[in-house]
Amino acid sequence: MNLDASILITNTHIVPMTKEADRIENGYIYIQSGKIEAVGVGEYPKEYTAADKIIDGEGMIAIPGLINAHTHTPMSILRGYADDLPLMKWLNEIWAVEDRMTHEDMYWASMLSMAEMIKSGTTTFADMYFGMQRIATGVEQSGLRAILAQGIIEGKQNTDDQLASSVSLVLNWHNAANGRIQTMLCPHAPYTCSPETIKKIIVQAERLDVGIHTHLAETRDELRIISERYNRTPIKLMEEVGLFSRHVIAAHGVHLTPEEILILKQRNVGIIHNPKSNMKLASGVAPITDLVKADVAVGLGTDGSASNNVLDMFEEMRFASFLQKVTLEDPTALPAYTTLQLATSLGAQAVGLNKDIGTIEIGKKADITLVDLQSTHTTPVNNVESQLVYAAKAADVAYTIVDGQVLYENGNLLTIDEEAVRWHIAQIKEKLL
Ligand SMILES: [Zn+2]
Repeated sequence: MNLDASILITNTHIVPMTKEADRIENGYIYIQSGKIEAVGVGEYPKEYTAADKIIDGEGMIAIPGLINAHTHTPMSILRGYADDLPLMKWLNEIWAVEDRMTHEDMYWASMLSMAEMIKSGTTTFADMYFGMQRIATGVEQSGLRAILAQGIIEGKQNTDDQLASSVSLVLNWHNAANGRIQTMLCPHAPYTCSPETIKKIIVQAERLDVGIHTHLAETRDELRIISERYNRTPIKLMEEVGLFSRHVIAAHGVHLTPEEILILKQRNVGIIHNPKSNMKLASGVAPITDLVKADVAVGLGTDGSASNNVLDMFEEMRFASFLQKVTLEDPTALPAYTTLQLATSLGAQAVGLNKDIGTIEIGKKADITLVDLQSTHTTPVNNVESQLVYAAKAADVAYTIVDGQVLYENGNLLTIDEEAVRWHIAQIKEKLL
């Protein structure tokens, strides 16, 4: 990778996600050394023709790279395995296979997910799994931006050993790969980690100055378990334990009271909505409209491939919007522009990276997705945000650029050998399933 490379994108429609009115129907973007150096209307300054690469953006829409704010990349190996089961039975089936996965298996499964994400315009993902140090090497190769956290589940192995391993991920990988890799600590959920363990994790997060990624208020079962054990709701319990003293990415937030939404706002918790996973596992409908109204930073995630079954942020946006509309019986709920915000600018805020990514603005990191809207199913373009959220498909992504590097160009993955990944996945599937 040439970190000093320059790219000029010409003749393109730009949806910068700063403000709705900032849209540029015909303009250019100039990228230098991984950052956005210029965004303008119409013809570009002549000196930019010296760029290392010029992309003709005719018929394309430039949007900030999509942020998949909650996933478990190695679960791609479990795609389509144990579908249509009740939740606890599903979890047991999944955990039984996960126990037999080696770090090398996780690496290849994660590479499969990264290939899928790059091809569908995702530039940043927040990952939670095991074997994260090996996965970090994959992130380094792939060119993607990632926030990596190693899940801690009490009873799996010695909890202190798990915490030590999570800390070592932070020490070895935080800010690595030109700053593309960030790390967090990760109590898996309030029902898999006791308050004592969560307190230990908070102490380490403070010492290392990193955030925390967790699952929170996902199912009614979780609410029942936490109520039986602690006579509290998951949010109240976490508030008392002190979790929100750190920056927290909390996946799901399906079952919340208005009072809890206020706590989440006051504590700047990023709530990550995973509509397809919530629908498939019948977890419920997260109050996204209320959360957005309360000014909570809401991001969008796919969750793992076992509960989705794809890592396609275009589908995720569509489901997020439709789910709010049908639940509230209100067609104006979660409109296209707001939905796009969840996947870009608001998502960046939710994961704590909004200083660097989430919008197309001068000085920000050059994470940009170019979507080609010249296909039959996207013609004509009456409203660009509607088209992106309600009509566009992952396959309409023409370019994926991260940190000023082109990772995907007109059907070609430039950093991942897809054939090799598929070969390894076939071997692992044979062995595990
Ligand atoms: Zn999850």
